[in-house]
Amino acid sequence: MASELEPEVPAFDQSLPECSAEKTAGKWLQATDLTREVYQHLAHYVPKIYCRGPNPVPQKEDTLAQHVLLGPMEWYLCGEDPAFGFSKLEQANKPSHLCGRVFKVGEPTYSCRDCAVDPTCVLCMECFLGSIHRDHRYRMTTSGGGGFCDCGDTEAWKEGPYCEKHELNTSEIEEEDPLVHLPEDVIGRTYNIFAIMFHYAVEILTWEKESELPADLEMVEKSDTYYCMLFNDEVHTYEQVIYTLQKAVNCTQKEAIGFATTVDRDGRRSVRYGDFQYCEQAKSVIVRNTSRQTKPLKVQVMHSSIVAHQNFGLKLLSWLGSIIGYSDGLRRILCQVGLQEGPDGENSSLVDRLMLNDSKLWKGARSVYHQLFMSSLLMDLKYKKLFAIRFAKNYERLQSDYVTDDHDREFSVADLSVQIFTVPSLARMLITEENLLTIIIKTFMDHLRHRDAQGRFQFERYTALQAFKFRRVQSLILDLKYMLISKPTEWSDDLRQKFLEGFDAFLELLKCMQGMDPITRQVGQHIEMEPEWEAAFTLQMKLTHVISMMQDWCASDEKVLIEAYKKCLAVLMRCHGGFTDDEQPITLSICGHSVDTIRYCVSQEKVSIHLPVSRLLAGLHVLLSKSEVAYKFPELLPLSELSPPVLIEHPLRCLVLCAQVHAGMWRRNGFSLVNQIYYYHNVKCRREMFDKDIIMLQTGVSMMDPNHFLMIMLSRFELDQIFSSPDCGKRLSSELTHKDVVQQNNTLIEEMLYLIIMLVGERYSPGVGQVSATDEIKREIIHQLSIKPMAHSELVKSLPEDENKETGMETVIEAVAHFKKPGLTGRGMYELKPECAKEFNLYFYHFSRAEQSKAEEAQRKLKRQNKEDTALPPPVSPPFCPLFASLVNILQSEVMLYIMRTILQWAVEHNGHAWSESMLQRVLHLIGMALQEEKQHLENVMEEHVVTFTFTQKISKPGEAPNNSPSILAMLETLQNAPYLEVHKDMIRWILKTFNAIKKMRESSSTSPVAETEGTVMEESSRDKDKAERKRKAEIARLRREKIMAQMSEMQRHFIDENKELFQQTLGLDASNAAVLDHSPMVSDTTLTALGPAQTQVPKQRQFVTCILCQEEQEVKVESKAMVLAAFVQRSTVLSKNRSKVIQDPETYDPLFMRPDLSCGTHTGSCGHIMHAHCWQRYFDSVQAKEQRRQQRLRLHTSYDVENGEFLCPLCECLSNTVIPLLPPPRGACSRLSFSDQPNLTQWIRTISQQIKTLQILRKEESISNSASSKNSENMDELQLPEGFRPDFHPKNPYSDSIKEMLTTFGTATYKVGLKVHPNEEDPRVPIMCWGSCAYTIQSIERILSDEDKPLFGPLPCRLDDCLRSLTRFAAAHWTVALLSVVQEHFCKLFAALVPDVYHGDLPCILDIDMFHLLVGLVLAFPTLHCQDFSGISLGTGDLHIFHLVTMAHIIQILLTSCTEEDGMDQETPAGEEELAVLALYKTLHQCTGRALKETPSGWHLWRSVRAGVLPFLKCSALFFHYLNGVPSPPEMQVSGTSHFEYLCNYLSLPNNLIRLFQENSEITKLLIESWCQNLEVKRYLEGGRDAVSYPRESNKLIDLPEDYSSLINQASNFSCPKSGGDKSRAPTLCLVCGTLLCSQSYCCQTELDGEDVGACTAHTYSCGSGVGIFLRVRECQVLFLAGKTKGCFYSPPYLDDYGETDQGLRRGNPLHLCKERFKKIQKLWHQHSVTEEIGHAQEANQTLVGIDWQHL
Ligand SMILES: [Zn+2]
Ligand SMILES: [Zn+2]
Ligand SMILES: [Zn+2]
Ligand SMILES: [Zn+2]
Ligand SMILES: [Zn+2]
Ligand SMILES: [Zn+2]
Ligand SMILES: [Zn+2]
Repeated sequence: MASELEPEVPAFDQSLPECSAEKTAGKWLQATDLTREVYQHLAHYVPKIYCRGPNPVPQKEDTLAQHVLLGPMEWYLCGEDPAFGFSKLEQANKPSHLCGRVFKVGEPTYSCRDCAVDPTCVLCMECFLGSIHRDHRYRMTTSGGGGFCDCGDTEAWKEGPYCEKHELNTSEIEEEDPLVHLPEDVIGRTYNIFAIMFHYAVEILTWEKESELPADLEMVEKSDTYYCMLFNDEVHTYEQVIYTLQKAVNCTQKEAIGFATTVDRDGRRSVRYGDFQYCEQAKSVIVRNTSRQTKPLKVQVMHSSIVAHQNFGLKLLSWLGSIIGYSDGLRRILCQVGLQEGPDGENSSLVDRLMLNDSKLWKGARSVYHQLFMSSLLMDLKYKKLFAIRFAKNYERLQSDYVTDDHDREFSVADLSVQIFTVPSLARMLITEENLLTIIIKTFMDHLRHRDAQGRFQFERYTALQAFKFRRVQSLILDLKYMLISKPTEWSDDLRQKFLEGFDAFLELLKCMQGMDPITRQVGQHIEMEPEWEAAFTLQMKLTHVISMMQDWCASDEKVLIEAYKKCLAVLMRCHGGFTDDEQPITLSICGHSVDTIRYCVSQEKVSIHLPVSRLLAGLHVLLSKSEVAYKFPELLPLSELSPPVLIEHPLRCLVLCAQVHAGMWRRNGFSLVNQIYYYHNVKCRREMFDKDIIMLQTGVSMMDPNHFLMIMLSRFELDQIFSSPDCGKRLSSELTHKDVVQQNNTLIEEMLYLIIMLVGERYSPGVGQVSATDEIKREIIHQLSIKPMAHSELVKSLPEDENKETGMETVIEAVAHFKKPGLTGRGMYELKPECAKEFNLYFYHFSRAEQSKAEEAQRKLKRQNKEDTALPPPVSPPFCPLFASLVNILQSEVMLYIMRTILQWAVEHNGHAWSESMLQRVLHLIGMALQEEKQHLENVMEEHVVTFTFTQKISKPGEAPNNSPSILAMLETLQNAPYLEVHKDMIRWILKTFNAIKKMRESSSTSPVAETEGTVMEESSRDKDKAERKRKAEIARLRREKIMAQMSEMQRHFIDENKELFQQTLGLDASNAAVLDHSPMVSDTTLTALGPAQTQVPKQRQFVTCILCQEEQEVKVESKAMVLAAFVQRSTVLSKNRSKVIQDPETYDPLFMRPDLSCGTHTGSCGHIMHAHCWQRYFDSVQAKEQRRQQRLRLHTSYDVENGEFLCPLCECLSNTVIPLLPPPRGACSRLSFSDQPNLTQWIRTISQQIKTLQILRKEESISNSASSKNSENMDELQLPEGFRPDFHPKNPYSDSIKEMLTTFGTATYKVGLKVHPNEEDPRVPIMCWGSCAYTIQSIERILSDEDKPLFGPLPCRLDDCLRSLTRFAAAHWTVALLSVVQEHFCKLFAALVPDVYHGDLPCILDIDMFHLLVGLVLAFPTLHCQDFSGISLGTGDLHIFHLVTMAHIIQILLTSCTEEDGMDQETPAGEEELAVLALYKTLHQCTGRALKETPSGWHLWRSVRAGVLPFLKCSALFFHYLNGVPSPPEMQVSGTSHFEYLCNYLSLPNNLIRLFQENSEITKLLIESWCQNLEVKRYLEGGRDAVSYPRESNKLIDLPEDYSSLINQASNFSCPKSGGDKSRAPTLCLVCGTLLCSQSYCCQTELDGEDVGACTAHTYSCGSGVGIFLRVRECQVLFLAGKTKGCFYSPPYLDDYGETDQGLRRGNPLHLCKERFKKIQKLWHQHSVTEEIGHAQEANQTLVGIDWQHL
């Protein structure tokens, strides 16, 4: 920013340049006290170079510093000219094999998911491209700055640690001392100078006095200048700082922005320079102004010499950094100097001093020395270790400093932990030697001091400051994660001991969390204040991976596992040692079983969701099972100390809490509880919360009598009363029972059954069941995909990630799912393989309720489609591990059977009982599970074993006395026929079938077959089958009926929406609902002619249209009320061939002749919706009024700008800014009778020229007569009026007033938008703009059709067809509302460009005219002349001659500019007629141009280039005359394929051999060609003095994008802000139209546009796209559409990952590749001028887009 300010050149001392580096170095070499000598030098020179004025002049300072200060040091170090010395050192150097490149902000970094030891291991782009990992699964991110490339670090990569470049150096011996490559004397001198300079830098940077220097740097003559230094903080915003500075130092906003930007970037900036008083005053104003916020901005008044030395200190550190780059030996010396202990002992090394002062330094100083550390200490393996130890020793202090500091972590030295702790060997060393694990955890606990009476963390009532601290302290957890991220492969006793010590500390931490944030159910009243719950969950979430990693560490060593298990159990027992006093013991009994427990009600007492100690123990217990330690060393385990009831108690309470919340019992506790329950189950937390609670219950239950467990569970669910009373069946039939309570209890029973299902069924954790980790992931994915097909990112989100951000999904996904590629929109999807459906478990424990019901529906639907029965029986489960094997007995326990029987009984006697179908469904599922279990046991049984699982026997027996209820089996058979259980029929049938199958298995294994029963069963089942079949059919019919009904009502509901969509379909020319153009075969003639005297006569058609606002129908007639189309007019550069050209002064700009570069056109589009003009007017007025009210009230933006005449189409909400009137064919309205004898071209030109001459004379007369009215009659007499020409005649306007008004409205709008001027309906340029818009719009449509190889008259969408028709007819009718004389004059001028006359000079030469624009202008202006011509020449004749004339001019234009290169393809065949003709013409041209034209090429080439060049013009003309005259198009041109040139010529009344035009009119041709060629510009062009557009013009395309997205990122990371001297741009943004990179969304690159500050993108849109822009935000991988200053939206980028998904924001980091189809789609939007419309729709759909300050991007 300095350059923006006044350049005040500080007066540098004249003696400076004379100071010789060599001499100074020589003096130093002789010195006895080198330190003193050097310090004196610095004391003398530094203040003479640095800080000589208010603003730094970095270049000058740097040059002088190099010369006077650094030069001598380099001389001294080398002992010779450093230019030689350093290159010698460099050559002798054996460079390290480490890359160590320090990343810039925004630079791409790569990590290999297959080989990186952890995700923090990254490569720079260069190394990545040269590594083996480019073919692996890699992840790409952009660096936030800091950090370096790990290439060459063997500890960072499992494979391929070196790239090609760094591999070269690995042959050297690793441990070689780099000093051996240095000469002795250099070593000595380097040591001296490094020691002095490093010491100096550290001393001055950590110097805290404000006006006094260290004694040995004080000067004799000290100036009296000070700086008022402003420091950065993270509290105040940019705006606050800018505002304050403007007030305090009285600067402009621009200067203030400059100051603020530097402060933000460097951490400090002087804002005032002068004497002490002057600076002090500024300081006090700043402090006063900002003290109202939490704390004032930090300001210091510092003596200029201190600032000077500090600036040099920084320079010196960077210098050291670059010097050590020459040689690894120099680097080692610097490390040695830095880590050498000073005179003050401990912590006195220079490195220590810097680290310990880190939080006191400003941002700029910090990053300079951090970089030096990275390039020195961290690059030298020996010193990296020593530095790691220093870092660990200071760890506690550094972290405390960081926690109290307010800078982001990336600016703290604490952030270097990631560079040290993630190195496995260093981490291990720090654990064993420095006990760092324990230190980190203890430091963390020290910072969280808020505890309750029981010593647990307490986050309630904690202040904002504590919250801030809490946030910062979380980074310690990250450090802990780094330490643990690579698991040890080998354990030493030391490591065991220190790890277990750390584990102890960790348990202490968890103990503080066990039971934190307890809650009590609120009854009666709703809670007053939502309690704080997030902090506790944040802590839990952050620790989740650490907890998992702790378990992984334990799992890797049996001894550690055993010890950890013991420790964990001991801590748990300390937390809940037995039961406390207030929990009274009670005895429960059911079915003859009884158990002792305590009286405890979740609904009445305190309960906590945080139980990390229990859960850790559960995790370790599973590991005992998985690693088989439990079976190998049972004697070493404290298994006897385990008390199952204590183990299960708290997890059970937690699960009961969830059940009760679900049953609605905790409603009064508010949302905080709902949120906690949500996170408890959420994928981010569940692994170490919900999952472990289930495992803990499984652990406890596997060691208990299942009956006892079930009884305790009933009691905790507070359901024991219901099930224990003998006639519980009648429990709720009494009227007294409240309905809510019934509902509540039903839900609780359902939840309890669900819990039992989970305890027995969830066996997919390795160690619980006999499964592998991949089985577990497979099962998760199967269940996710059972809900619906999912995109890769969706699946990833639904799966738990490990500490390496991996879900393990890629390894198994192929086995369970098919991938379906994405189309033009949407994402690629994974679909479940059909064979996996049988593994679906309806009661999968990770389903949320909503997911469960969706999955159920989806799976039933699938079964119905496959014509299977819809039962969803439990899948076959894998067997339990031995430690958990006894769990299956729950299913056949007596209490369980009792519960099942009871519920079935309720269902049988369904009236009078409170029960629910869900309850029954769960019981059926449990029965199904038991049957599956028994079947499995039977199938896998060994010869002599007896299957003890005898569920089938038990359910065949009737209940015991006194009930004597029927057997479960009997009840199921009853229920099978219950009409009220239709849905569950299939499941019951499945159960009975399975039951029979098991029975058969048992019988076949035993010796006594029971034939009789089997027979009855068979019979029964066949009877059932019939019935079932009928039922099934009825069911299918019913479902079908329902579906149709649903569809119908859906259709009605969405009718309007659907229609909207229909209309909203973008300008897609392939729209399926397109109306075919004029297909009505009313004209039988095969040769259709669009214009001229031979024009095909079209019978008049009456056109009726309906107003979308009032729904009334009306005919389109000249005399009736106007009907209008909503339209959007915009400026456009889409066709521009010269993007740098902008209209400089719109007030004087003359648009009459469009240049061939089409640099700025006016495009008109429409959604095609028709309204009455007056209906639209009323609608628009109301929108305007509403908007004004709204703006007053809310000051909100809308997606449209009412003040600019914008509105949304009332039907489709398409952005519009005017309306086009609908008109009948205008030529019909003013054509008169024509005579058969029509003039030829020559005659016609003569006639017209005469008429023009007459008009010019009359015009002159008029102007003379106006000034002097005396003698007008005389001249009039001289004038001979051409025959039949009546210049005094003024035709009557045929249109109704309402149409006239609309003609003016649209004309004015086109003029206003096209020229960006204030509306003025009388401006002579209005008609020109109307014709221009018509021509430009037709040209743009023609381009789109050609680019897509579509036929010219193929099916167009209605809206486009309507738009073109109305636009053309409007433009043709507009002259009727303009001044006749004005339009006549336009015509004369346009005509004169081709047929020169004496009245119009200075017209553009034919090379500088777009011929189609000229044609449209001439044809549409011609009626003004023709209406006064009564000689009998028809209008059609005029059209035809104009068209022929312009076509001829265009052919000459093409011949002049065609660069026909002979490509050696000589045509053997004799030349055809066309070729001979064109050769002759070329010869003529050659003569006329004075032989400046190139020698004659072959006729074949010439004809070919003429044909190709003229084709776009002919196509545009065909469209134009088609819409103007309404002649249907020839059917041959409605289909694509063959060349249409001949048809085109016929339709346009042209000879197929276009050159014949010249031959037929040879009289005049020669004259015209001569006049055209005589133009000086043509000469200049032919002599190579200028350029000209050649034909055919190529279509514009968006820029080419690279296939691999990372090359774009790399390109952008090298891009620096063009305004702030080499700074990296924060939001580099690429213009997709022209390829310019911009520094977006930043103060530095704001410019002023029409008096407002706008960002670089907005500014660019005005020069590049006439206000419309298409950009790619490179860092975000996001397409940005901008239109005007207030409109914008984001659009999905054309880059996809391998899973067919975009990555907006680059969050996932998968490699991205260009999707050509999607990029084409964006290009199509641009070509179709639909960008603004797209923005409008996006903003209407998403109101938050409206609020974004697009203009600042
Ligand atoms: Zn690298
Ligand atoms: Zn490398
Ligand atoms: Zn790899
Ligand atoms: Zn109407
Ligand atoms: Zn519309
Ligand atoms: Zn551009
Ligand atoms: Zn910038």
